[in-house]
Amino acid sequence: MIIVMETRDKKDIDRVVAKIEEFGYKAHIIWGVERTVIGAVGDERTKGRLLSLESLPGVEKVVPILKPFKLAGRELISEDSVFRVGDAQIGGDRLFIVAGPCSVENREQILETARIVKDGGGTALRGGAYKPRTSPYSFQGLEEEGLHLLQEAREATGLPIVTEVLTPDQVGLVEEHADILQIGARNMQNYALLKAVGKTSKPIVLKRGMMSTINELLMSAEYVMSEGNKQVILCERGIRTFETETRNTLDLSAVPVLKKLSHLPVMVDPSHGTGHWDLVIPMAKAAVAAGADGLMVEVHPRPEEAYSDGAQSLKPARFRQMIEELKPLMSIVGKTLQEIP
Ligand code: PEP
Ligand code: MN
Repeated sequence: MIIVMETRDKKDIDRVVAKIEEFGYKAHIIWGVERTVIGAVGDERTKGRLLSLESLPGVEKVVPILKPFKLAGRELISEDSVFRVGDAQIGGDRLFIVAGPCSVENREQILETARIVKDGGGTALRGGAYKPRTSPYSFQGLEEEGLHLLQEAREATGLPIVTEVLTPDQVGLVEEHADILQIGARNMQNYALLKAVGKTSKPIVLKRGMMSTINELLMSAEYVMSEGNKQVILCERGIRTFETETRNTLDLSAVPVLKKLSHLPVMVDPSHGTGHWDLVIPMAKAAVAAGADGLMVEVHPRPEEAYSDGAQSLKPARFRQMIEELKPLMSIVGKTLQEIP
């Protein structure tokens, strides 16, 4: 339910919040410029009780939230969400570009790539320390050592670190080392993991499952947000279709749909979305034209030597080319590149 207040009086707001909590719901206060609203989110079965709040002083009206994604949707929070990570802004009028190798392989590789990403104009460095591989015989990542190497790369460049967390018991350690936690496509509906990252204070890149609908993606964001962490970045990374020329089918229509349904920043991963390096730049441009707030791309100094996803990784020169080719598009959509000092 949305409780629309006709006042900003703290006493009136506190009284409503106390009542919401007494009914067993969580209260989310949104201090808007025009008006203050309070979201009461919790057990759907007993929400009728909340209607009585209309009789409290300072309350204008109580209206239901119709969509199942209460906190991720636009009904309660209508303005676009913008997050800050160190010097970087995510969402709003900045385009943020997360780039780096699929996997952290060794010290030289990650430091070299971090430098390429920084000099090329990237906003954040990605790199998997824990890798969700289809085969148990494929490289599984350097694990904790990978996290330390990522930290070293951040110290060397100032780039914030984005890395994937695979299980709830890894969350504490990954949170200590990373600036943004990634939930991979294979884990989009791992509800225990979603709840665990929902208790952290770091932004979460939530990748769309390869067989998940947009609605399911938003419900997964809801799991994270309902635990208290409101900083979710939605990421379209391609879905399974009958098409075999590309690794996945990058569903770019998800971008305007997500922007319509949700206030959360939306990013696109054209690397996993296509599986081929030569398709990354065209689809990155299409993503920005479609209204994406950010991109995630795989970059490797020598893709032919990569332990994973070399075929879809950009060489350094191609990464720089992508940023250059994006610039005119950014000005058309009213965004500028988020630069890291
Ligand atoms: C990744 O970003 O390295 C990754 C494994 O992506 P996805 O979860 O989208 O497959
Ligand atoms: Mn990858």
